[in-house]
Amino acid sequence: MLEPIAQLLILQNTDQHLREVTQALLQLPQEKISCEKALRDADEKLQSIRSSEHQIEREIKKNEGDILAKQTQIARYRIQQMETRKNEEYAAFNHEIALGVKAITALEEQQLELMEKCASLQPEIERAQEVHAIEHKRVNAILGTIDGRSENLLVRQRELQNVRPTLTLPIDEDILDRYERLFKSKNGMAVAAIEHGVCTGCHMQMTTQTILSAKAEKEIMICPQCGRFLYTEED
Ligand SMILES: [Zn+2]
Repeated sequence: MLEPIAQLLILQNTDQHLREVTQALLQLPQEKISCEKALRDADEKLQSIRSSEHQIEREIKKNEGDILAKQTQIARYRIQQMETRKNEEYAAFNHEIALGVKAITALEEQQLELMEKCASLQPEIERAQEVHAIEHKRVNAILGTIDGRSENLLVRQRELQNVRPTLTLPIDEDILDRYERLFKSKNGMAVAAIEHGVCTGCHMQMTTQTILSAKAEKEIMICPQCGRFLYTEED
């Protein structure tokens, strides 16, 4: 292999690693935000089902109060009824007491329905709690790795950045310049192999002449379509 191409390939390998490391570092804050959102979503789901339960419990309590009030009222009517001597008033109390008893029956029926509703919610709450716990465990495990991953990536990034100048030093300035531009514009691939007669950068079929010249390794070859540096390791 031509020496400049061999040097470029080592540089490209380093630059590709550097690019991966840098992209991974850039993704970490976003990953953290997604994790925190997942935790909030899990909390909200559990909160929502719990607030349904609390709503029913409040209704049950209110009903209890209403029933008690009706019972107190009926007791008061009964005392007043015993004290009256007028038949009309006596009959009116009877009527009021009957209405009160009817209202209590209705309230008690409602109370049963609410209690059943509350009971039927319990398995759902338990499931929601389980899902919540699992989700918290999962997301916290990921969150726990983010700082460590960030540190490792930063170390790797520094290592690669430190080694890079020693790799670029022996490379001709014009070649390096062309390489840098290609690496940026061609998605991290400035040097491409010819495999099965095709440029692996752009997949164009190379002419026999280009393939032979690449094999001869006398001069630096450039892909006529994509402009990448070419080399071949095929016989
Ligand atoms: Zn090409």
